[in-house]
Amino acid sequence: MRALCWNGKNDVRVETVPDPQILNPRDAVIRITSTAICGSDLHLFDGYVPTMKKGDILGHEFMGEVMEVGKGIKNLSVGDRVVVPFTIACGNCFYCKKELWSLCDNSNPNAMVAEKMMGHSPSGLFGYSHMMGGYAGGQAEYVRVPYADVGPLKVPDGMEDEQALFLSDIFPTGYMAAENCNIQPGDTVAIWGCGPVAQFAIHSAWWLGAERVIAIDRFPERLLLAQTWGRAEVIDYEQVDSVVDTLKEMTGGNGPDCCIDAVGMEAHGTTLDAFYDKAKQTMRLDFDRPIALRQAIMACRKGGTLSIPGVYVGLLDKIPFGAAFNKGLTFKMGQTHMMRYMRPLLERVMNGDIDPSRLITHRLPLDAAPDGYQTFRDKQDNCIKVVLKPHGFQPHTHGGNGHDHHHHHGNGGKMEGEREGGGRTGGGREELLS
Ligand code: NAD
Ligand code: ZN
Repeated sequence: MRALCWNGKNDVRVETVPDPQILNPRDAVIRITSTAICGSDLHLFDGYVPTMKKGDILGHEFMGEVMEVGKGIKNLSVGDRVVVPFTIACGNCFYCKKELWSLCDNSNPNAMVAEKMMGHSPSGLFGYSHMMGGYAGGQAEYVRVPYADVGPLKVPDGMEDEQALFLSDIFPTGYMAAENCNIQPGDTVAIWGCGPVAQFAIHSAWWLGAERVIAIDRFPERLLLAQTWGRAEVIDYEQVDSVVDTLKEMTGGNGPDCCIDAVGMEAHGTTLDAFYDKAKQTMRLDFDRPIALRQAIMACRKGGTLSIPGVYVGLLDKIPFGAAFNKGLTFKMGQTHMMRYMRPLLERVMNGDIDPSRLITHRLPLDAAPDGYQTFRDKQDNCIKVVLKPHGFQPHTHGGNGHDHHHHHGNGGKMEGEREGGGRTGGGREELLS
């Protein structure tokens, strides 16, 4: 099959690779009809996430049609249309039982590597480095989905791919970011970034009762979308002397009650700290450039809440922790607990509360994915969200004959380290609890 492979910093290529196969009873193989490029993929593209290897297949936002299921899968049948969450979870461990899906104890076969860096390992993720499991991703024609009885959500007949696709990541991520703010009546929510995650956070903040939403970015088309689609007030951070002072002025000196960092480790900046971060990150002395996070800490009102959906991987430098402590801030963060949010947010789409396809600016065949990465990374051509179509642009032929249910026996899409969770010694808690 064709798949987008990572070949090093700034180098992704569409290559022919072995087709994925069922390796475990709880696997499914999905024929991917739509897949997207995420801000998180840019951290891989730019070479800031450790433990990537040449040939790794990227992509963690995808949906498609079930081609084949393992013997253990009872809830899915061949031909079902599903959207697949980017976090892989076993469904049975201590964390899954608490619905902390992105912290699953069994889905990362390389947990030891993550434990060395972080003390504990989060769940495995599709297409997101060997430290996160080394799973092949979904910017491809087909993908193997482990624990397919836990993650994939069936898409109702008649719903377009573009309405459902973002349930795979950015829609739940924006929602959890707002939920993590614990918004109270009268609250002002400030959101750093007007990218796809931020746009969903804006809508979610209104749903959860915000009185004001203020969004911050520098790209006119993104600020405009936040204003028109999201009804947010906006700040162009290149047009103000200080984002922190501007936010304070807009809120009677208090600062926003809730601050969301929807930018993450590759923040851009114009201030001294930003040049310092850029130099350190370029020299690989640091993984992260936490400019937005610093500003959010400084701007947030006393006793306020900081929610961080933006991804960070390493040891963050020059964080005003004393400010956070003395202002009594609450921090909430993490990879999204996807399976908590997918169904309720699907219902919002069905009710017409939101049209997620409004974000899509670029629709490309899989072969054009390398251009898509470039355009999205550099925010060229007013790019907000890129959707790739690995099997072309024909409308879905659900239930009909003639879709290519061909059998694809490759010599295995199995990658190094791609064993199921529970495989590591003393690893999962599944055994202990059940
Ligand atoms: P994106 O690259 O499209 O958007 C980031 C936006 O931040 C851009 O519009 C950029 O101009 C803006 N920005 C950069 N520096 C800024 C600054 N100093 N102040 C204000 N805005 C600034 O990416 P995205 O897809 O929207 O993702 C955003 C972040 O969320 C990324 O870090 C991504 O890795 C992360 N993410 C996390 C999860 C999760 O589970 N927690 C899931 C998906 C994405
Ligand atoms: Zn993503």
